[in-house]
Amino acid sequence: MSASPAHVFRRLSSTHQPHVPNKRLRHAVVLGGSVAGLLAARVLADHAEDVVVVERDDSVDGERRGVPQRFQVHALLPGGRAQIERWFPGFTDEAIGHGAVFTNAHQTQQWADDVCSVTTPNAVLLNASRSFIEAQLRRHTRALPNVRLLTAFATGLEYRDGRVSGVRLDAGESLPAAFVVDAMGRSSRLSDWLERDGWEAPELERMQIDVNYATAYFKRSQVQPPVGAAISRFTPGYHKKTQAALNGIEDGQWMLMLMTYGDDRLSRDWDEFLTRCADLPPVFAAVAREEPVGEVHTYRMADARRRRYDRAARLPGGLVSVGDAVASFNPVYGQGMSSATLHASCLSEYLCDGADPSAAATDFLRLQKVVVDAAWDLSTSGDAERLETGKPPLPVRLQRALINQVIAASVVDVTIGTKFNDVAFMNTHPSTLAAPSVLLRSVWANRRRQPPR
Ligand SMILES: Cc1cc2nc3c(=O)[nH]c(=O)nc-3n(C[C@H](O)[C@H](O)[C@H](O)COP(=O)(O)OP(=O)(O)OC[C@H]3O[C@@H](n4cnc5c(N)ncnc54)[C@H](O)[C@@H]3O)c2cc1C
Repeated sequence: MSASPAHVFRRLSSTHQPHVPNKRLRHAVVLGGSVAGLLAARVLADHAEDVVVVERDDSVDGERRGVPQRFQVHALLPGGRAQIERWFPGFTDEAIGHGAVFTNAHQTQQWADDVCSVTTPNAVLLNASRSFIEAQLRRHTRALPNVRLLTAFATGLEYRDGRVSGVRLDAGESLPAAFVVDAMGRSSRLSDWLERDGWEAPELERMQIDVNYATAYFKRSQVQPPVGAAISRFTPGYHKKTQAALNGIEDGQWMLMLMTYGDDRLSRDWDEFLTRCADLPPVFAAVAREEPVGEVHTYRMADARRRRYDRAARLPGGLVSVGDAVASFNPVYGQGMSSATLHASCLSEYLCDGADPSAAATDFLRLQKVVVDAAWDLSTSGDAERLETGKPPLPVRLQRALINQVIAASVVDVTIGTKFNDVAFMNTHPSTLAAPSVLLRSVWANRRRQPPR
């Protein structure tokens, strides 16, 4: 009997480093030196004598053309942080030493429809900008003796006997590779290369999201609110529309992000930004009164994307894709970096189980599907409900009624709130919320919450 998705997810979330007795691969190449690529390189360092990370941006610690979302708030979910700590032990302490802000459960506020949720013991976060997290990962990766970072633009793959044998670079050179990881992000060209070279391009699934972001930075003064991270979310029918997230970050700053959907666009205008903040829960308004730093940065994302490599019948051996290159989610759920850490875990299990690089990486794709399904189903079901025009079929309505019970109870009941956060934080698989005990307790908690008539 095959293991359930929840069981596979739990196994992939292990925090133990595997023991790898010998390196079976000679050359491995990672395309893209961002969060997903750096973690893949760390895993490959256990299995290959020589790992090269090819990154097109020549100034990775400064301006990053390849990562236009870098100015926006990035939550590192606890599940993702646990995986980073697995591959780079001591990461959290070092990040704090360099200025990241660690918040315990009492310093983390979660608001739902303007109601402050119960404090749950698992709401423990490491807060920093995305650039900071990536820079720390790069520092750790650079320290690995058999990993090299190369500034170059990858333009295609080379093959021999049905498997990848090298990577072509823009300068006309090529790198030998027995194993290649595509970590080129949401705009990865791998599908085009495969199609051009006579392989099967994966089907591209899209979910329209039309999400608008605006992020501004503020100084963290001496008199600070007793909170280091906060989020304010609204359910689809709620009368307010501007959602928000707040993180204390490195360099003594706050990052405050506003988010809307559809035509309710956000601009770079400071007055508009501050007016919207005034309508948020008190902690957001308090931070918006601090001294601003720099400008308001906006970002718009039209769709969430998933490339179905798991459904492609003809792929070369020795090739996998990780991170946003496989699935780029509605960013509101904060799943991207943490998903990338779990893709690294899939890669580790696949290689430890004696992967055969001469055949398509079917076993890897099976593992990765569990991780992508978990994040994709969670985020797209919320988007589907928001965008719906007609009445959905009965089974969908029933399923939603149950999950809405759990969501409502998570605001008032610590047990349900903890279980809900474990899923939202990518510590556990979403199916854990469908347990009868969770549903019954949720209904009970919601009934107790209703005021007497
Ligand atoms: C507005 C917004 C907010 C987000 N908020 C969150 C959040 O709160 N929490 C979270 O976890 N995630 C969040 N994400 C997602 C997160 O940014 C990504 O999941 C994360 O950056 C990991 O992506 P990646 O490493 O797969 O790809 P990317 O970060 O996109 O990196 C791809 C890399 O590949 C390089 N590259 C591309 N093509 C080539 C080539 N041909 N040759 C060489 N190099 C190449 C690029 O230069 C780049 O460095 C958010 C995303 C957006 C857009």
